[in-house]
Amino acid sequence: MLKTFIEIRELTKNYTLSSGLFNPQKRIIYAVNNIDLQVFKGETLGLVGESGCGKSTLARLITRLEKPSSGYITFKDENIFSYDKEELKAYRRNVQIIFQDPYSSLNPRKSALSIIKEPLTIHRMGDKKTRSEAALGIMAKVGLSKEQANRYSHEFSGGQRQRIGIARALVLNPELVIADEPVSSLDVSIQAQILNLLKDLKDDYNLTYLFISHDLNVIRYISDRVAVMYLGKIVELALNSDIYNRPLHPYTRMLLSAVPSCDPQKKKRMMNIKGEARAENEEGCAFQTRCSYKTEICAKIEPQLEKFDEQSFCACHLAGSI
Ligand code: SF4
Repeated sequence: MLKTFIEIRELTKNYTLSSGLFNPQKRIIYAVNNIDLQVFKGETLGLVGESGCGKSTLARLITRLEKPSSGYITFKDENIFSYDKEELKAYRRNVQIIFQDPYSSLNPRKSALSIIKEPLTIHRMGDKKTRSEAALGIMAKVGLSKEQANRYSHEFSGGQRQRIGIARALVLNPELVIADEPVSSLDVSIQAQILNLLKDLKDDYNLTYLFISHDLNVIRYISDRVAVMYLGKIVELALNSDIYNRPLHPYTRMLLSAVPSCDPQKKKRMMNIKGEARAENEEGCAFQTRCSYKTEICAKIEPQLEKFDEQSFCACHLAGSI
């Protein structure tokens, strides 16, 4: 049986926005809206959805860069929002993040070696010599040579910079790595190299990945299970093969139809998608204004994420009958 590593329960993160300088009314935006989700030890869980759907907010909550409005997250059965200072430090060693943009996430005034060994210094692990040895060791693992150790980030290509970002995330020997759009700013040929590297490192270091992307091709290549997120909610969760061969939710179908294809029929399907995302406080299904399968009930009752079969969950009144 798969061991639950991260458990997310009824997690909500909302922000109150002012409607304007002369308008006293406030608007509440739900970046993450009552999410339940589990990440199992050793898996790669892909989290996919359009830009602004709440994927990165969820990552920031898991890494404790933000606190939730309600709900909680457990790591190995402990609530991460109840940690004391020392426990939080240990958690931050164990859960590392790889950022989207290798261009802006690296300090331009530091050498590759300094960037990679910095987390060891922050966490006061080892001495100067062992930190450098550990950093050089992880550099070799991600495909960077000893000769590149003293170069600055502007002297590296985009793919190499992302390798530095990966090395920096792994130097603390974490158990969980959150990869937030780690290849989206790279050329397609480089993307494949980085994805293969991440796969190899997962095996070598016995890692668990939460892999966030808007790109279904990338998610398909790397994930064991896939969670589809729409307007702050998980609308479908299933094994990789089920998501791609038997998508249950109309939004998953829409995303799949948007994947670039040479098939003219697929292009036509994408053009049939209509409507815009609805306002936050409307009743019923959040996807109703974009959904061509909408029925009467969709406008009245919000569908909940329900079990469809052993490994699949879907939040749609018509799951399985579309
Ligand atoms: Fe479409 Fe209705 Fe399903 Fe929402 S519940 S996705 S509107 S069919």
